[in-house]
Amino acid sequence: MVYCWKCGSELREDAAFCSKCGASVRGTMGVQSPTGFELLRDDKNVQNHWARRLVAFIIDAVIVTVVLAIIAIVVSIPFIIGLSFPSTTLGAFPAWWNAWWGLSLGGLIPLVVFLYFFLAEGLYGRTLGKEIMGLQIQRVDGRPMDFRSSLVRNVSKIYWVLLLIDVAVGLGTHGDMSQKWSDRYIGTKVEEKTRMTIIP
Ligand SMILES: [Zn+2]
Repeated sequence: MVYCWKCGSELREDAAFCSKCGASVRGTMGVQSPTGFELLRDDKNVQNHWARRLVAFIIDAVIVTVVLAIIAIVVSIPFIIGLSFPSTTLGAFPAWWNAWWGLSLGGLIPLVVFLYFFLAEGLYGRTLGKEIMGLQIQRVDGRPMDFRSSLVRNVSKIYWVLLLIDVAVGLGTHGDMSQKWSDRYIGTKVEEKTRMTIIP
């Protein structure tokens, strides 16, 4: 049985278009029988694909966090060397520590993570983490990656619970195993440009 890559409906084997949502399903447009979770359990290639995705995400999260930490330190240099107003009740802690937690608790990190993914994938189809792990975002219809697609597939990164739901719904439904739910909605998928084995 084959399923629509976009809406998950069952298709006739020779179908060119999905009768339910109208998506083109010719050729190699990612139709397959099992759900992503079933493949993740049974298929080494799929396990490897998602392990690469996870490592790429961790690399990107570390890059953003380190850059923000450096900015927090630079911003707090005037406080550290005492050029700014004298120490207050917070003075017991280093200024950079306060600045860092001020930024973190203010929700800046998720926002910057989102902006980083949105801009990098909108412009280049990949982040630094994906580049290192040999991954690339592609539109299912073959058109170049654009900001609208990047916005839709990355907006769930603004809050980790939404990202988990996005991945879980994508893997829990029929279609291309590389697609989060938002990928399926907007018509993007993650391609492997190189061979790389993480899970032996
Ligand atoms: Zn469909």
